[in-house]
Amino acid sequence: MPSWIEQSAHRGLLTSRYPRVPASDAEVPTTARPPLAGPEGRAAGPGPDRCPVGAIEGVAVDQGRCIRCARCLADGFRFAGAVESSSPSRAALARPAASDAGPDPRRAPLAGLGRSLHLFLVDVGSCNACNLELLALANPLYDASRLGLFFTNSPRHADVLVIVGAPTEEMAEPLRRAYEAMPGPKAVVVLGACGISGGAFRGNPGLRAGCDELVPVDLYVPGCPPTPVQVLDGILSLAGRGRGDR
Ligand code: SF4
Ligand code: SF4
Repeated sequence: MPSWIEQSAHRGLLTSRYPRVPASDAEVPTTARPPLAGPEGRAAGPGPDRCPVGAIEGVAVDQGRCIRCARCLADGFRFAGAVESSSPSRAALARPAASDAGPDPRRAPLAGLGRSLHLFLVDVGSCNACNLELLALANPLYDASRLGLFFTNSPRHADVLVIVGAPTEEMAEPLRRAYEAMPGPKAVVVLGACGISGGAFRGNPGLRAGCDELVPVDLYVPGCPPTPVQVLDGILSLAGRGRGDR
């Protein structure tokens, strides 16, 4: 512990100032950002066949399926997507990055809730990595409480239902009940490729295709797992307070 304190003092490591200042490369490593299509012509290689989750179509990458495995880098695809990567629309995540349509504008269904949001987590079948990135928001580095974000143990006290993991049949009913127990106004955020599209487990007979088959989803945060900054920005965007909203 003393050595950790010494290192922090030496580096000047303080609580992140995100979203007041942009996220640093250390907070969002390049490999955690969405891959984009490669240079013209090179993306016609075996990229689509190499992708283990069928996320590539032509030169387009479906961000909701991509598990950031990096296999397509050999075909000229590259990690270079936006730090604030999330979308209210599943269809928009599947669009080519270079699409003229651009990303869908984000909505703020909880804009009326002032400066404080309470989060209730439901794990419908995760590997635990998405949970760890979400729970990192409570550590001293991100300190989400400085932004009025708090975890609650009851859906009856929650404003935001945060879902992680692939939607297993067994968790379908508990998820619906948690959603119904929440008072309005409320919002639903899905973190990670598993919850958005099944991710690496896509097509398993015990799974639904995505969490949006079970509850209405307000925001999709892609990644495998998404970074804490990405999650922070996504949740704040529900109240119109994300850096991506500025
Ligand atoms: S990084 Fe992996 S999962 Fe994502 S598009 Fe490339 S090959 Fe597919
Ligand atoms: S999206 Fe990736 S990190 Fe998140 S639960 Fe699924 S496999 Fe794990």
